[in-house]
Amino acid sequence: MRLDLRDIIHVPDGKKTFRFQLDLSQQDFYGSKPIVHPVQVEGSVTNHAGALVLEGTARSVLELQCDRCGKAFSREKAVRTVISDKSRARGAQLPGRSIPRICCKYPLTERKS
Ligand SMILES: [Zn+2]
Repeated sequence: MRLDLRDIIHVPDGKKTFRFQLDLSQQDFYGSKPIVHPVQVEGSVTNHAGALVLEGTARSVLELQCDRCGKAFSREKAVRTVISDKSRARGAQLPGRSIPRICCKYPLTERKS
């Protein structure tokens, strides 16, 4: 997806919001495809004194299988990201950088590999 930022790039405190759906149902994670449902993405890009800051949340209900007991279950997962063009990404989760441990009894956690 591309965002047209011409309206805010030279406007202090200018803000552009966005909202779209992603189909990640074919995305493979360690041999399974848990993102069966559409991913809802929403957020904004704000001009903070000339620095563009993107804030956004991606949210979906994942269809998972418990690593411990093998039971199938669903769980909502939301990932929030803040990225500034003047600094490094904070809170961004890069796919493939961590190994998820999935259990039907606990919230989703991610372990750094
Ligand atoms: Zn279980």
